[in-house]
Amino acid sequence: MERLTLPIPVRLHVDESLSSWMIRAALRHGCSPFDFSQYYWEKLRVWTKDVDRGFQYIDPFVHQEIAKLSRCRLESVMGVSLYSLMSLLFECINPKEAIKWIIPISNRNRTHKTGQYYCPQCLEYGKSCYFPISWRFAWHLVCPTHGSILVNQCPYCHTPYQPHLLHARDKYINTCHVCKRSLGQELDTRQDWQFIRIQNDIDGVFQKGKSRLWGESVSAQQWFSLLRYLQMFLRNAIEHGTKPQRDFLDYMQIDLEDIAQIKSGLAFEYLTCDERRVLLSEAYKLIIKPKSLWFKALSQCACKKQTFINVRRALPQSLVQLIQSLPDNRTPKCMPAGGKPKLTERYIKRKWARIVRQYGNQGNTATNM
Ligand SMILES: [Zn+2]
Ligand SMILES: [Zn+2]
Repeated sequence: MERLTLPIPVRLHVDESLSSWMIRAALRHGCSPFDFSQYYWEKLRVWTKDVDRGFQYIDPFVHQEIAKLSRCRLESVMGVSLYSLMSLLFECINPKEAIKWIIPISNRNRTHKTGQYYCPQCLEYGKSCYFPISWRFAWHLVCPTHGSILVNQCPYCHTPYQPHLLHARDKYINTCHVCKRSLGQELDTRQDWQFIRIQNDIDGVFQKGKSRLWGESVSAQQWFSLLRYLQMFLRNAIEHGTKPQRDFLDYMQIDLEDIAQIKSGLAFEYLTCDERRVLLSEAYKLIIKPKSLWFKALSQCACKKQTFINVRRALPQSLVQLIQSLPDNRTPKCMPAGGKPKLTERYIKRKWARIVRQYGNQGNTATNM
């Protein structure tokens, strides 16, 4: 029992991620996050995993131990784990797969290729700052308090921010583990107050577990599924867009210019903050258009069922009724049957982006050769 007490109390904030608490607790006691985790959970190799997901699939007893150490209720610890939070959107989550709508850590051993996202202003005071779990949500792109666009690199040495690699002498969580400078002192931050309204609305659906869509009540699961489909629809319109697709988006006043700048074919969660902001803003515009306008646009632009079901993703439930009313002019083909893809410049760039993601810096080295 004595082992499960901390001499200096470090409480888990109500919205704090588990990794943030572990790092803070370690540094507060003058040891590195690595030594801290070795002391309490030696066999788990904690930092080779995505700590924020929680320990449901590894050793659920760890939650009880964190609750004791942080002097919080078990429900509070469970409440900030990503597995618990995302169970609202997914009936089952495969622990071996990436979770949709969650920024992946893309780790190799203890090194993460994707740095922790943060707001520089929120990290200004090292002694009191922490990471809210919402910084792991792929739709959280701007700090609601400061309006700053979240970043995930050190502004000085450009290393992905990985505070779990800090040493005991580094003292505060807002320190870059490579150049040792404080990330809370960055003055040149970009802001986007407009996006906060969209982000708040998406948060609202997530927190309430439901939303209104075209005059009807839908579950958060259905609403998020539609939002994801619409992003795919927009990306598809750039790449393989048919005339009815483009006319439809034009009628709905959707701006495809910025989306066209997204060259990689990576999943939404792997895109940069700016790319996700552009995609979400335009997909959100579509989701809030009234049903009457959808009908008008669909008929004016001569849309067929195939305009929507050729997108490489199952049609979301909330869109089925709307699309069923459209004429069907041919049997849909989703993929070229067994044919080799055309080696277009876009195809090669997408392939290359995947290789760079898989091999990290090795891929970058190859670019320079
Ligand atoms: Zn902030
Ligand atoms: Zn640095």
